[in-house]
Amino acid sequence: MQYIDCNKYAQDILDAVRAIPYKKKLVILSVGNDPASESYVKGKIRDCEYCCIPYEHIKCDSNTLGTHIHQANFNDNVNGIIVQLPLPKSMDEKSYTDRIFINKDVDGFKEGSPFKPCTPEGIMYLLRKELGDLTGKDVLVVGRGKLVGEPIAKMLLDANCTVTVAHSKTKDLHLYLRKASVIISAVGKPKTIDLKSCWNAEMVVDVGVNRDENGNLVGDCYDFDKSFLINPNMKVTPVPGGIGLMTRAMLMAHVARLDVNSI
Ligand code: NAP
Repeated sequence: MQYIDCNKYAQDILDAVRAIPYKKKLVILSVGNDPASESYVKGKIRDCEYCCIPYEHIKCDSNTLGTHIHQANFNDNVNGIIVQLPLPKSMDEKSYTDRIFINKDVDGFKEGSPFKPCTPEGIMYLLRKELGDLTGKDVLVVGRGKLVGEPIAKMLLDANCTVTVAHSKTKDLHLYLRKASVIISAVGKPKTIDLKSCWNAEMVVDVGVNRDENGNLVGDCYDFDKSFLINPNMKVTPVPGGIGLMTRAMLMAHVARLDVNSI
């Protein structure tokens, strides 16, 4: 088992964005004080600073969020608008994110957006860099969530992979794990994917972001050491330092209108 150096791939994208001479602004709108959201916003601000992308972080409340979206929509100096999710439970997220003009929907969440959602796009970028042409690959996607599982399954089909989607009602997951040559786990539960079962996998993408019983950040996959003995050539994305970095880099590419296929 080998870890994939996602940091290198993400850095290539950030450097390509940084090299673009003139960039318009990213507006980040947040509501409330959720600690996880605050840390994600800090990461986006750090990336903007590295890439020389002007940014504005506005802390809103339920009364002002709509107005700020409206103003950013009509500001020609703004290339991207993000409403940091989750919003407080009392607010209907979709009713706000739907107000973002599609040409500024850099998260790629809206139907008809010219941008693909950042996480699945980051996974596709990584798969192509590591495996080359994906035509005919036998891919297992574990999870069918709207953010990751569902869109990545569609993108893989579009890339002519043979795609199986597993979910919480799938029986005998280990049988599917044994067969697939590429496995993507987007579940959000530690110890869902036993890497010892991934007999034929050349690559495992661990999208999950979880806390273990000691409060450490972990993915969905486990048992790295023993898998090393069973499948020494298998490449696995680490958590932390894996798909999260790819997601952040894709966001910067969207704001700068960089086509990552050119890198
Ligand atoms: P989600 O919408 O809650 O979807 C989770 C999926 O996992 C569901 O389809 C569920 O099946 C399935 N599932 C639950 N238990 C399972 C089991 N034991 N075996 C197989 N499938 C099971 O979650 P999400 O928004 O897609 O996010 C998934 C994970 O990715 C989370 O940890 C999230 O934090 C992480 N994530 C990371 C990034 C990043 O940048 N690194 C970005 C986005 C998300 P049912 O449909 O049957 O309920």
